[in-house]
Amino acid sequence: MFKHLSAVPGDPLLALIIAHRNDPNPNKVDLGVGVYKDDNGNTPILNSVKKAEAILLQQEDSKSYLGINGAPEFAAVIQELLLGKDNTIIKDKRIFSAQTPGGTGALKVAADFIGSSLPNPKIWVSDPTWGNHLPIFRSAGLSIETYPYYDPETNGVRFDDMMKTLKADAKAGDTILLHACCHNPTGVDLSFEQWQEVTSFVAERGLLPLVDAAYQGFGDGLDEDMAGLRHMASIIPNMLICNSFSKNFGIYRERCGGLSVIAETSEEASNAYSIIGLAIRANYSMPPAHGAAVVYTIMNDPELKAEWVEEVSAMRNRINTLRNQLVEKLAASNTKKDFSFIRAQRGMFSYSGLTVDQVHTLRNDYSIYIADTGRMNVAGITDNNIDYLCDAIATVVG
Ligand code: PMP
Repeated sequence: MFKHLSAVPGDPLLALIIAHRNDPNPNKVDLGVGVYKDDNGNTPILNSVKKAEAILLQQEDSKSYLGINGAPEFAAVIQELLLGKDNTIIKDKRIFSAQTPGGTGALKVAADFIGSSLPNPKIWVSDPTWGNHLPIFRSAGLSIETYPYYDPETNGVRFDDMMKTLKADAKAGDTILLHACCHNPTGVDLSFEQWQEVTSFVAERGLLPLVDAAYQGFGDGLDEDMAGLRHMASIIPNMLICNSFSKNFGIYRERCGGLSVIAETSEEASNAYSIIGLAIRANYSMPPAHGAAVVYTIMNDPELKAEWVEEVSAMRNRINTLRNQLVEKLAASNTKKDFSFIRAQRGMFSYSGLTVDQVHTLRNDYSIYIADTGRMNVAGITDNNIDYLCDAIATVVG
């Protein structure tokens, strides 16, 4: 039955993780894997999460099924975090939200919804974008187009080219995927002014924005990171938002996220939400409970919430401090390359501007593991490895 099958190549990032794990060099540095790490190189459970879990252990009284859309009270948590508590979209009931298995589950359901509900479904994604976006959209039968995004010359956004391409080729009814903040893989975000310009264009052309919010709180702040998304939602009548709680609650393996649909009227949003329910049912029937119960418990307990907000700030500040240290130490090492752009990037990831040859030399000669694209996980840097890392980069870059 399976004789005709041959193995497909594995995910290069997973291969990188295994290569790092098997490397006996005591000085090895892992900047590949996409999870937050503390200064000891660990991905700890947040204190607020541990406390919420203790409460749940006492209070949980059933393991019966949740509904298709998850716990009904969880929708308010998703909406308040994304849009802010007093947003009129929430008050007018123009937004409906489902609890999903991670941001990935949300994206798959959103893609199926687009594929089944919109004529000639096409989605525009940034070049580059998160590696899993393309397989998810492809599997839902969407046709995919890319818009220019990252500029290797300036290490910034190719904003003029982005707008030129979209203006020339995007058609009314097409979907446009935008990263809310902390763009993965580049770390390069749109400025607020650029969000405003994209929003005006999306309104004028009649596009459907699909915003992927996987790193809320990791850029400039929980509210600050949603400024572009909130502006867009205040202007554009229809929108899909996929969010992940994996990073900001550190609950990666619990698989917790949300899919929100916003429409012009409450009735339209409710209709779209019912079709989203069909896509959920056909994919995984119902989401897992635990992660959302943890997030809900934290967000509804003022003390736990305050502790969580502090813990997110600590993760964000550590990453942003590391960015500054990296830039300063690389500048002090007299390398000829200017790395100051790393300071302006946001989130865990940084397109470092290192070439594939330089990345391979760092891997083979120094046991420093960076993705072939040059994407580094800044959170993998520690007080113990930063000097070793900067010396190695300076030697390899020259
Ligand atoms: N979107 C982006 C841009 C991501 O980087 C990730 C996670 N790496 C996700 C979505 C999916 O997150 P989750 O692990 O919650 O499925």
